[in-house]
Amino acid sequence: MEIAIVGGGIGGLVAALALHARGFCPTVYESVAEMRQLGVGINLLPHAVRVLDDLGLREQLLASGIATAELLYFNKFGQKIWREPRGIEAGYAWPQISIHRGHLHGLLLAETIRRLGPDRVLTGHHLAELQDGERPTLHFVERANTGKRASVTCDLVIGADGIHSAVRRHFYPDEGPPVWNGAILWRAMTEGAPFLSGRSMFMAGHANQKFVCYPISREHHDRGRSLTNWVAELRFDPDRPFAREDWNRQVDRVAFLPAFAGWRFDWLDIPALIEAAKEVYEYPMVDRDPVPRWSFGRITLMGDAAHPMYPIGSNGASQAILDAEALALALGADDDVAAALQAYQDNRLAPTAAIVRANRNQGPEQVMQLAEERAPQGFEKIEEVAATDELEAIAARYKQIAGFDRASLDSLAGRSRA
Ligand SMILES: Cc1cc2nc3c(=O)[nH]c(=O)nc-3n(C[C@H](O)[C@H](O)[C@H](O)COP(=O)(O)OP(=O)(O)OC[C@H]3O[C@@H](n4cnc5c(N)ncnc54)[C@H](O)[C@@H]3O)c2cc1C
Repeated sequence: MEIAIVGGGIGGLVAALALHARGFCPTVYESVAEMRQLGVGINLLPHAVRVLDDLGLREQLLASGIATAELLYFNKFGQKIWREPRGIEAGYAWPQISIHRGHLHGLLLAETIRRLGPDRVLTGHHLAELQDGERPTLHFVERANTGKRASVTCDLVIGADGIHSAVRRHFYPDEGPPVWNGAILWRAMTEGAPFLSGRSMFMAGHANQKFVCYPISREHHDRGRSLTNWVAELRFDPDRPFAREDWNRQVDRVAFLPAFAGWRFDWLDIPALIEAAKEVYEYPMVDRDPVPRWSFGRITLMGDAAHPMYPIGSNGASQAILDAEALALALGADDDVAAALQAYQDNRLAPTAAIVRANRNQGPEQVMQLAEERAPQGFEKIEEVAATDELEAIAARYKQIAGFDRASLDSLAGRSRA
């Protein structure tokens, strides 16, 4: 069966590896002319690490990233609202891994080429047009320089082409651009001394002003340093015009640094961290409304093409990886391609739509907003502001929605092992 995966990002490459593990040999068609290690930090939650572990990638991931030990929420004064252990420290069989997105992508690309062969990842193939039917046909254009064109007819198309998906646009031509909620994220990495446990991820602030921080490099950690990924976030009027989302747009930190000038916590000097970053990237907080259908005969969607979501709760890459597993399992279980794609959609569409909606409502970060509303001037002890049970319930509810509560995960051990 000739399978075309459109888009060689995180989801597309994991789909290629997962399908290969089930005996298929798909081809990845990627728009860019050259795959470069782009992006800053990204998180893989235990449910996604489970899938990558089954694909034999656990040790490589741990050699590059950080096995995150704890997650903490603070208010804007750096007072602790909530702490929970994460990954192995929380009793999971799989770690949570904070990693450089470019390294993760590079690792997946190298494995895809090694296992499937170099001719199975074709760069310079930007999907320009799609014809559905008994055997779908894809028309590609090489965007850089040449404008060269190529057409491919195949048995199955997987649209893994991200938030601006051309495959999705074919089925939803009137959808328009992603929806912006008014928040802007400034993202960067800074090398410095480790903070908190050295393997801690934290968020500070509230819905209108937030700072997210976590280390992402094992190599730095092993020599007593921290390569810290951070995200500064401010909220504006969503009706104000804003440039199209581009993961690689660099900006001047003057746009947001003054707002964080007073955020010098006992355990981390945030203005100093911001000042010391070499490059800062800007990205608007966007997503799309969930759609009722991803699978159309022999064509389906996955990852950000299917369910772009706010980067809240660390689920963007993880959910794309879960899609990849579900797709490969469905196709391995049913020779009828359309029925398999329908089963995949039945399995994944509703849960991911629930996460999109939960993230619009702040996901697990609700605890920060709750502390801001109840104690805007800060607090001595969090118990004066919120009971432990209340905070725990918010954290537990999100884990269930996103599918990484421990009980659900343990039952899936080894599911995708080839
Ligand atoms: C360059 C880049 C940097 C990123 N950096 C970060 C980061 O630092 N932190 C973070 O949390 N998330 C980052 N993301 C987003 C993150 O990778 C995704 O949200 C998540 O991993 C879901 O993966 P995905 O495969 O669905 O989408 P993506 O990883 O976005 O992959 C989509 C792929 O499709 C390709 N593509 C797009 N249109 C076409 C087309 N018409 N034809 C063929 N190919 C096409 C793109 O070039 C890309 O390689 C980044 C994405 C990109 C593309």
